[in-house]
Amino acid sequence: MADNKYVYTWGDGKAEGNATMKPLLGGKGANLAEMSRIGLPVPAGFTITTEVCTYFYDNKKTYPPELKSQVEAAIKNAETIMGAKFGDPANPMLLSCRSGSRESMPGMMDTVLNIGINEKVVHALIKQSGNEHFAWDSYRRLIQMYGDVVLGLKPETKNDPDHFDEILDKAREHAKVEHEKDLSVDVLKDIVAQFKAVIKKHAGIEFPEDPMEQLWGCIGAVFGSWMNDRAMVYRRQYGIPHDWGTATNVQAMVFGNLGDDCATGVGLTRNCSVGIPGFCGDYLINAQGEDVVAGTRTPLRIEETLSKDAPEAYKQLDEIGHTLEKHYKEVQDIEFTVQRGKVWMLQTRNAKRTGFAAVRIAVDLVNEGLIDAKTALEKRRIPADDLNQLLQPIFNPAAKAAAEKADQLLAKGINAGPGAATGQIVFHASDAEEMWNADNDVQLILVRKETSPEDLRGMKVAKGILTAFGGASSHAALVSRQMGKTCVCGCDKLNIDYEAGTVTVAGKVLKGGDWISVDGFTGEVFAGKIETSPSEVMDVLMGKLKPEQSEIYARYAQLMKWADEHRTLQVRANTESADAVASVALGAQGVGLCRTEHMFFDHLDEMREMIFSSTRVDREKALSKLLKFQRDDFTHLFKTMGDRPVTIRLLDPPLHEFLSEHHMHEDPKLGPKLAKTFGVSEEAVHRRVEELKESNPMLGHRGCRLGIVYPEITAMQARAIIEAACSLKKEGINCHPEIMIPLAGYKTEVDNQTAIIKETAEKVFAEQGVKVDYMVGTMIEIPRAALTSAEIAKTAEFFSFGTNDLTQTCLGISRDDYKGFIGYYTEHDIVPADPFQTIDQTGVGRLMKTSVEDGRSVRKDLKIGICGEHGGDPKSVYFCHEIGLNYVSCSPRRIPIARLAAAQAAVEGAKR
Ligand code: PEP
Ligand code: MG
Repeated sequence: MADNKYVYTWGDGKAEGNATMKPLLGGKGANLAEMSRIGLPVPAGFTITTEVCTYFYDNKKTYPPELKSQVEAAIKNAETIMGAKFGDPANPMLLSCRSGSRESMPGMMDTVLNIGINEKVVHALIKQSGNEHFAWDSYRRLIQMYGDVVLGLKPETKNDPDHFDEILDKAREHAKVEHEKDLSVDVLKDIVAQFKAVIKKHAGIEFPEDPMEQLWGCIGAVFGSWMNDRAMVYRRQYGIPHDWGTATNVQAMVFGNLGDDCATGVGLTRNCSVGIPGFCGDYLINAQGEDVVAGTRTPLRIEETLSKDAPEAYKQLDEIGHTLEKHYKEVQDIEFTVQRGKVWMLQTRNAKRTGFAAVRIAVDLVNEGLIDAKTALEKRRIPADDLNQLLQPIFNPAAKAAAEKADQLLAKGINAGPGAATGQIVFHASDAEEMWNADNDVQLILVRKETSPEDLRGMKVAKGILTAFGGASSHAALVSRQMGKTCVCGCDKLNIDYEAGTVTVAGKVLKGGDWISVDGFTGEVFAGKIETSPSEVMDVLMGKLKPEQSEIYARYAQLMKWADEHRTLQVRANTESADAVASVALGAQGVGLCRTEHMFFDHLDEMREMIFSSTRVDREKALSKLLKFQRDDFTHLFKTMGDRPVTIRLLDPPLHEFLSEHHMHEDPKLGPKLAKTFGVSEEAVHRRVEELKESNPMLGHRGCRLGIVYPEITAMQARAIIEAACSLKKEGINCHPEIMIPLAGYKTEVDNQTAIIKETAEKVFAEQGVKVDYMVGTMIEIPRAALTSAEIAKTAEFFSFGTNDLTQTCLGISRDDYKGFIGYYTEHDIVPADPFQTIDQTGVGRLMKTSVEDGRSVRKDLKIGICGEHGGDPKSVYFCHEIGLNYVSCSPRRIPIARLAAAQAAVEGAKR
């Protein structure tokens, strides 16, 4: 039997792989192969497949036996193409070794460059390049990367020493130069010797002279980096499975640091912050790739100066950009090196972008004829959650103007991640994480010289990120954009002193904990707190800005139109009257959940009077006061929603939410006041409060259990709903109330409440001399209801999944008390995601499927929706589409996200 194939080569216009082979070759490997196939200039190399990574972890970090000979053959292939030999002391080919998983995980895994240099090869490099500085600098970089990556000498915490950087810092200080590139050859030679001594001292081995030993060390380190902490954190955040593994790419080196006719850079075929067309990016003359992304030298902008600095290379690059966009039909993020005037491609991938850029680019690509509307909706182009950014607040213009006037503007950096953020300065990611763990509401701005992947956890919890170095493609910029965080980078006026815990800028000294504000749209940095205000899209939607005044709104509207044309799931809002107008503006097709108790919170006195009534007569008297308020609220809600359906849920929470010791404690006058109002003793007040107390407040006397024990509550609510609908009908407004029974588990409960509602409705119709269409249905939020849906559907005319309660009752995890351990659970992969954010498809999802099937077996066209928080979570929306729900209902701000996710489910589901 033939050996398994673990290695795929590319180069010289040919390749064994192609772009469709990402699961096996990783994104980088598949695209290097593809670029080679379409004739772009790619240095020869090969990919070791993700299967080897899986094997590596399944077999105690060893390789399949066939791998060695396949790697050797692939090196020979690259040698033939490049006309040089790996390890040859006369004509050496150097190699790079880079990770590359199926989904790009920028900066999370490891890379080693310049592999193959040793004491002999360094002299051959000097001869070949005629550049002694280059050769010794390449050698010191190899030893440093090998030490950091392969031998694990990279500092892990802020307190660990960085032996290599310390040596470099001293050398620069001593030579009085800013960059290593200005160090003399003799100093570099000395650094090489010192670096080797560091390896001997701290890793206990000699730096390997054998190029093959170097290469295998690097391959092992790249596969090993798949399981490092930051890569695992990243995968959890973006839902990338741990068992995919990474591929390893080994590629002939080309050099951007041979002299001033060389350069290295990273570019985007269009701007990925705001989406405007045109090639852009960062480059450095006479530098190696890592210098651009490391943020240690602030790079130049391709769109500003490359055409002057290197006109020939600029032309080649621009053409490559067009070829790539035409071929991939997507904006590309590339890495390139210019070696003696010739451009070499080291990577291409679909570019990460902000929500703003994602919307603009997708819409523009359709308008340019590169893709169709259906393709524009794909979730890989616009992750539905990213729409959030368009609906995010910006600085309140008046507050910002006041800050400017008050001289709070400190500096301007690169506007790398749009949005407005204000928060307290924190200098270390670990401190940020600690502060956030202590208080989830803390507002932080992470202020750093530059960020690295180690800072990921801190970036996640910060509202914004501010760095002193690095360009628009630096780590800070890239990761912030992906996370949708406000980010200003390359703000070189900041003088950050980590030890002193200060940042000095514009003559001001700010300390950790001081407030600072960053504008990710403009790059401005302000001292102090600045009030934020709503997004442009929201302003147009709410009529505060004219549509033609906002470019981003125009594209948002275009995209939403396409989404609405493609989706089959309806989207409703969880709303009461206060947000109803905004919900309609955001595209709600109805109300999926009006929580009537929210209306009662405005009328606590009357509600408490009802609670205090000890007889039905007294309760009805109190309820008659509430009736008016409810009717007014419903009238307003129905009017706003017009002929859209409105699901109103009967009273759900336990009564102690309206009156508890907590209320009495907060307002010491409340006890005496209630005693006086209801003509009872204060002691009696306390007794009643004690009676209402529940030890498990979420599963006690609540939901339909209230309406069953106190039928007059249900009758009052039904009356308010039907009266409001009848009077609107007389005004010519046809509303469609859907009255929803909460927390039912038994058909008898649904029967009981339905009978009260129907009887009340008939009475109101007779009184009003008019009838309205209405439905009576139930929430499915108790496992028993899901399991007995065939029975329940005999009475219930619609179902709505209350997945908040269904999750807590199915999992036996209290939705109020799970914060203490859920972080640990997700971090340790006990659960794939927070089950209160994303539906647990295996457990809760199974109950839902059963309920849908059984319910519809009795009532064929049973209308089924979801109104738990999951209704606005894209993954859960896809699931709801899959199991055939009619609608999802979510909080107003998430409506556009749900609309897009529903379209993605329809478009991508249709593909399957
Ligand atoms: C639910 O349980 O999912 C639901 C929508 O109801 P509530 O969150 O009000 O309990
Ligand atoms: Mg509920």
